[in-house]
Amino acid sequence: KEQSKVYNFCAGPAMLPASVMQKAQAEFLDWQGTGRSVMELSHRSKEYIALAEQAEQDFRDLLSIPSNYKVLFAQGGGRGQFSAVPMNLQGRGKCADFLLTGSWSNGAEQEAQKFLATNVVSDVVSKEGLTAVPDIDPSMMSANSAYFHYCTNETVDGIEIDDIPDSGDVPLVADMSSNILSKPIDVSKFGIIYAGAQKNIGPSGLAVVIVRDDLLDSAMPEVPTFLHYKTMDKFDSMYNTPPTYSWYLAGLVFKWLKEQGGLTAIAKKNAEKAALLYRCIDQTPFYINKVHPDFRSKMNVTFHLPSDELEAKFLVEAESRGLMALKGHRIVGGMRASIYNAMPIEGVITLTDFMRDFARRNG
Ligand code: PLP
Repeated sequence: KEQSKVYNFCAGPAMLPASVMQKAQAEFLDWQGTGRSVMELSHRSKEYIALAEQAEQDFRDLLSIPSNYKVLFAQGGGRGQFSAVPMNLQGRGKCADFLLTGSWSNGAEQEAQKFLATNVVSDVVSKEGLTAVPDIDPSMMSANSAYFHYCTNETVDGIEIDDIPDSGDVPLVADMSSNILSKPIDVSKFGIIYAGAQKNIGPSGLAVVIVRDDLLDSAMPEVPTFLHYKTMDKFDSMYNTPPTYSWYLAGLVFKWLKEQGGLTAIAKKNAEKAALLYRCIDQTPFYINKVHPDFRSKMNVTFHLPSDELEAKFLVEAESRGLMALKGHRIVGGMRASIYNAMPIEGVITLTDFMRDFARRNG
C-alpha cells in the first residue's frame, strides 16, 4: 500500500514545520560551509554567537518585545520554570496568586508551594454546563503578592485564555508553553512570560523566558545559579553550556514564522484551523467538546466520542489513515488534536473529513 501522508496531532514534544526539518537535515553535517555540524561548534565561537543573537532578535521581532525585557534561553523546559519563577521572585514577597484552569496551572502552583505561600484566586467554573474561566475578583488577590501566575493555554484540558487578566500592580507571570508564537501578544502587560519550547518553538528541554528587567534581581538567596535570571542574563544565557542545537532549531522556526508573515498571519491560519475542527465537532452530535466557546483552545482541541469502544476504534482507523496521536491525555481521556503552528490546514481538513465519515458509519 502506498504510504499516505502522515499528520501528527501529538501534543508534543516538538512539532516543527516540514521545511524547517528539511533545512536542518540539509545542513546537518556541514553548517554553512564550516565542515561541521552546528552542534559541534563552540558556543563561544563567533559563528555560534551570531546564530544565537539572530535567533533572539527574530524572536523579539516576532513578539515585538520591548527593550526593557530580557530574553533568556533556559534549560529544563516548562517545569524548570515552575521552580525558577518562584525562586526568582520570592524576594518580592512570600506569597503568590494563582489562577487555576487545568493541569499545568495546578502543576505550577504545587511546585511554587515549595518556595512561598500560594493563594488560589480562582478555579474554573461551569457555565451553561461547559468549563469556563471566571473574571478575576480583585478581593481574592493576596496583599503583597510577589506575582500573579496563570497559564494561557492548558495543553491537557484544551482551555485557552485570550483576555489578559488584570493583576493591578502585581507582576503578571504567564506559562505560554503551548500557545506562544501562535498569535501576537502585548508583552508589556506581563512581568514574566515563559514557555517550554516543544510546541511552537523547537525541541523539548529548552525554555524561553521573557523577563521585565526590574524583576531580574528579586531571587531568594538559595536559587541555583543556573536558574538565576540575573546570572543567566549576565552570561547571555550561556552561564552553563546552552542546548545549542535546540537553540539553532528554534532560530530556524523563528525565520520560518517570519516568512509566513509573522504572528498576525499565523494567528489567522490558526483561527481557521481551529474553526474548521470545532465546526465539525459542533455539527456532529457524535462528538462532544466540554469547553465553553469563549475558552476553547486554538492549539489543543479536545473531544469525546459516545463510548470507550468507539474511541478505541476511532484511534485505530485514524492511524491507518495517517492521522496520528489523537488520543487525549490520560487524565482527561477522550481525544485531543493538537494543531500547533506547524500543522498545515490540509491536516485539519483530512481529520475533519475522517471525523464526519466515522460518525456517519458509527453514529
Ligand atoms: N506548561 C505547559 C502549558 C505544558 O504544556 C507543559 C508540557 O507540555 C509544561 C508546562 C511542562 O513542560 P516540560 O515538560 O518541558 O517541563
